[in-house]
Formats: sequence, structure tokens, C-alpha cells
Amino acid sequence: MSGSGEYLPDGTEGITRVEDLPKAKVVGRSRNYARRPCPQCDRSCYRNRTVERTLHDLGDLVSGRPRDIRLTYSQHYCCKCKSYFNADMSDLAPPKSHYTHRVIALAVRLVVEDGLPYRAASWHLWRDHRVFVPFATIQNWVEAGGEKGGATNHRRVSGRRAG
Ligand SMILES: [Zn+2]
Repeated sequence: MSGSGEYLPDGTEGITRVEDLPKAKVVGRSRNYARRPCPQCDRSCYRNRTVERTLHDLGDLVSGRPRDIRLTYSQHYCCKCKSYFNADMSDLAPPKSHYTHRVIALAVRLVVEDGLPYRAASWHLWRDHRVFVPFATIQNWVEAGGEKGGATNHRRVSGRRAG
């Protein structure tokens, strides 16, 4: 354990089912545009449809509730490349991830830098940050070198070159 932070009484002690956890506070975010440039040919393409995804973020410690981001984004169609693409939301989360960069970065740091076992890291994230991440998911992130898909150029801490 890190030893940082004082002990706070935990109203969720004894809860073992995810359904029993306190309801998340939902925050809206938008990456919804009428037109976006195609990532392949740079042509400006109209929105094809609007899509929603939910991202789990670090929780709200004041209210003790988890925090979810309801992200609305536009999907576009490039008629030249004949392909669909989404508005860029890589600042919030990696592709297909259910968790924000902030959650992934913290989880990986707990294991790689603080040396917590996966299960302890999962518990720590819930207890101190109100985000529920199954330990197997944390394991996947660590083994993938931080973030699945590697959309950003994070590198393994252990693989960092000296000097
Ligand atoms: Zn294109």
C-alpha cells in the first residue's frame, strides 16, 4: 500500500456485487461534428451518424460516486476512400476502451511503479478513486505496455532507455 492519504470510512465495505455499487455521476462530453477531414485523404466528410459510448473515469471522491463520461461522437463517411471513420477522441480514451486515459495511466502506474499485485491495484482503484476495474483488465493494460492499441506513444516504463 502506498501509505498516502488518510483512512476514510468506506460505505461500500462488504459490497461484493457490481450492481450494488453507488450509481455513477454521468458527465456529458461531445466530439460531434458536421464535417471532419478524412484521416487517409484529408477530404472533408459529412457526418454519417451520431454515436454514443460510455467511458469510466476516475471517480468523484467528494460524493464517493464513480464518474462516467457519456461521450457523443460523430461517425463520418469518406466517399473517396469508401470508408467510415470516427471523430478524433483519442485525447479521452484509446479506441474501443471502456476507460479513460487517466484510469489506465493510474492503474498501470500502481502496478509498474508502486509494485501492487493486480488484485490490490483493482481494490485500490475502487477504494481511493471510485472506479471499478477488473484485475484482469489491469493485467491486459500492463502487458500491453500501458494502453491497448498504442494510439499514443506511451512506452513501457521498464523498457525506457537510460540516458
Ligand atoms: Zn478519404
